[in-house]
Amino acid sequence: MRSIVDLRSDTVTRPTPEMRAAMAQAAVGDDVYGEDPTVTALEQEVAELLGFEAALFVPTGSLGNQLGIRLLTPPGYEIVCDSLAHIARAELGAAAVFSGITFRTWKADRGRLDVDAIAELVAPDAGPYQVSTAAIAVENTHNFGGGTVQPDDQLEAVKKLARTHRLGLHLDGARLWNAAVATGRPLRELAAGFDTVSVCLSKGLGAPVGSVLAASRERVAEARIWRKRYGGGMRQVGILAEAGRYAIAHHLARLADDHARARRLAEELGADPETVATNIVVLDVADAAAVALKAAEQDVLVSALGPRFLRLVTHLDVDDGGLDQAIEVLRPLVA
Ligand SMILES: *Cc1c(COP(=O)(O)O)cnc(C)c1O
Repeated sequence: MRSIVDLRSDTVTRPTPEMRAAMAQAAVGDDVYGEDPTVTALEQEVAELLGFEAALFVPTGSLGNQLGIRLLTPPGYEIVCDSLAHIARAELGAAAVFSGITFRTWKADRGRLDVDAIAELVAPDAGPYQVSTAAIAVENTHNFGGGTVQPDDQLEAVKKLARTHRLGLHLDGARLWNAAVATGRPLRELAAGFDTVSVCLSKGLGAPVGSVLAASRERVAEARIWRKRYGGGMRQVGILAEAGRYAIAHHLARLADDHARARRLAEELGADPETVATNIVVLDVADAAAVALKAAEQDVLVSALGPRFLRLVTHLDVDDGGLDQAIEVLRPLVA
């Protein structure tokens, strides 16, 4: 019997039996009182990995981002990011609704950073008639850009620009793990120079839920207040934090397998493998919705994210057999 191969997103992974066993054993306490030892351990581990003083466990990546950018951007100020950024496109206007923040965006080819475009956009001290820029947001890897790893020279140039203009710098590192594995560089190197960094445990790492926001001790203390205010204070949540700890310990290095499978998908389906840096493959097809529908009829699920934009994401629950099945189904549909 063929099973369903779900390439819509790396969020669809289910906890493995080993992860569930670890969760069941987790020590817990009331985390709103700061008394959940497993949450505290996760926060310390992620802070250490990312090279920050402190970190905060949050239910979703969106909340991690929203807390990060609100710490850097006062109401009535703007944050700049690229036009495909998750914070601008996929968080349902949260920055405007909750924080009084507006956006301006630059266009980025495949989500790649372009310091010249950003330099043209930022207006750090715009005076009494125009919106002043308070912060810049960067996404690494870039989701809608196709799992793009941000180029080092551009990253360094953006950090310099932010320092020059005293702008805050937020990193949406939902898939920073993938960037670290793809480049072979330590996470703390990729996170260095940012003021706030959010990472997801529930994407390729395969935890059922959870993200972490890393920052200075002072900023994390402030984020803790806002997390509670938003309704994101959680109680005996060590049971979920343990899934994240397990994922970091056991599922990080294996992201390389997802990257190799994504490359193979690209090769077999006629995309340029050079554009596949991590676990996301973008295909340009005549009718993305039609391809997704026909593939689904044959148990292969993919995302149509635009009229011609088909996204395929490899992850923990797609093995070589599943990949073969996906290729067999998709090849005639995308030809
Ligand atoms: C998934 C994702 C997030 C967080 O999404 P949630 O569904 O809120 O956990 C943030 N940024 C990027 C780039 C993502 O891909």
